[in-house]
Amino acid sequence: MTEMIDVAVAVAPDKPFEFRKVELLPPRADEIRVRIKATGICHTDVAVKDQYFALPLPMVLGHEGAGVVEEVGAAVNHIAVGDHVVLCGDSCGHCRSCNQGLNFYCDQFVERNLSGLRPDGSSSLADGDEVLPGRFVGQSSFATKVVASGRGAIKIPKDLPLELMGPLGCGLTTGVGTVQNALKPSPGSSIAIFGAGTVGLAAVMGARLAGCEKIIVVDVLAPRLEVATELGASHVIDAGKEDVVDAILSITKGGANYSVECTGVPEVVIQAVNCLTRPGWCAQVGVTPSGVTVPLEMDQVLYGRGIRGVVMGEAQVANFVPYLAELYRDGRLPYDRFVQFYDFADIDQAVHDSAVTGEVIKPILRMN
Ligand SMILES: [Zn+2]
Ligand SMILES: [Zn+2]
Repeated sequence: MTEMIDVAVAVAPDKPFEFRKVELLPPRADEIRVRIKATGICHTDVAVKDQYFALPLPMVLGHEGAGVVEEVGAAVNHIAVGDHVVLCGDSCGHCRSCNQGLNFYCDQFVERNLSGLRPDGSSSLADGDEVLPGRFVGQSSFATKVVASGRGAIKIPKDLPLELMGPLGCGLTTGVGTVQNALKPSPGSSIAIFGAGTVGLAAVMGARLAGCEKIIVVDVLAPRLEVATELGASHVIDAGKEDVVDAILSITKGGANYSVECTGVPEVVIQAVNCLTRPGWCAQVGVTPSGVTVPLEMDQVLYGRGIRGVVMGEAQVANFVPYLAELYRDGRLPYDRFVQFYDFADIDQAVHDSAVTGEVIKPILRMN
């Protein structure tokens, strides 16, 4: 059945989101239809709208959707009508990475998640005669309903607050997973986290769960550093006031065992490597526009220091998202402290408050 839904369309960097009523086509065999309860706004959504990360527009963005399943395609076996789900990205299901459960390193990651379309070039959204890209990260959740990738849907218990759960599918998985799955710090080790947004703060909570002793957070916004301290940072550094690398070398008496770089700013990437001890690993999580290069001092890298990119916390999301949901339930992942809810209609305000002024860390849009 085709039905009319409301979507917020990103059309151009300097224009507000356009609210449109568009047609949602029925799900195919490997898809599900979900009534979105709420969706987080992630930095990547803003980066695409602003064309810092230049995907083709117009597109319906949004990739931290949580909702209730209304219809299930014949080939989707792990989800039923009425289930509460968090939507993660799409993947092919049969390449080497998919076989290990690492959907975000899928050979077809880009075409399935960043084109806004299915691999065959079609979309589940139609705006009159226009095909509207509605498949961003397998979902395009800035919408009252979506047809999403069945493989990307993860069932969560119904007694958890669904409207809070969407960010588990991206920001929280990325931050906690980068620490727990990619860096795997031993208890008592030190870690420096650059950028106290959702991902950085999730990394703080992940580092605390992993038993890191010195958890150092770097940002330029004092209120964010305060939240970092509340969530378990042992030290915070205002990068506008201190020499970051000197401060970290001093706190750790020679360098951090690990770092997590969440900003994607080249000068910060260099700091995140130069603050390490020997040997030490930096996980690069922040996104830079394509073509950007970072000049690392090779005499720094030589002594056992390394940097590697990490996408989605290298998590087997089908297991990791429910694991995070249980951590939230137990009070060990209190990310609700830095969430602010907005009505869907106020999406531009939510983007402004989080990406422009930075006063809100994780905005979540409610679809009611
Ligand atoms: Zn994201
Ligand atoms: Zn794959």
